Amino acid sequence: MPALRCPRCRATLGTAVRPTTKIDRCSICHGVAVTLAMLRRHGPEGRVDALWKKMGEGRPAGQCPSCDRAMVAAPVAAWTCWLITETCRACEIIWFDEKDLTTFTPIGRTLAAPVPKLSPRAAEVLAGLTPKELAAPTLEETRALCDLLEAILPPV
Ligand SMILES: [Zn+2]
Ligand SMILES: [Zn+2]
Repeated sequence: MPALRCPRCRATLGTAVRPTTKIDRCSICHGVAVTLAMLRRHGPEGRVDALWKKMGEGRPAGQCPSCDRAMVAAPVAAWTCWLITETCRACEIIWFDEKDLTTFTPIGRTLAAPVPKLSPRAAEVLAGLTPKELAAPTLEETRALCDLLEAILPPV
């Protein structure tokens, strides 16, 4: 795969090493690119397919780190907050801004709120919507995403 570029800064992404995986990360804005293949390692096929489909139901957003076409920004609940995922449907790349990564809290470190909060970025993108108006998925539906996020977050 040719070098990936940050959708925000257009800088070439570097590699960040995590205990169980390696990710492509922007050293300027600290956004992270992962692949659908990585998400697939964290959940059963049917659930991951449904999640990937949901991530495609959104608005045009930043440029894909690989092919430069517009990605799709969609809200996805992850344990205690709503995050915005940006995905390139062709390259099967998922982009997270640092704002979203820092909002996500692994379940082991928190008591899950009954209604997930919007991350600052989700609040910007979804201005006017409240979490209640978003169809709250069950935890099981987005578990693969939560497990992926836990795997790509920097160790504490
Ligand atoms: Zn960047
Ligand atoms: Zn692409």
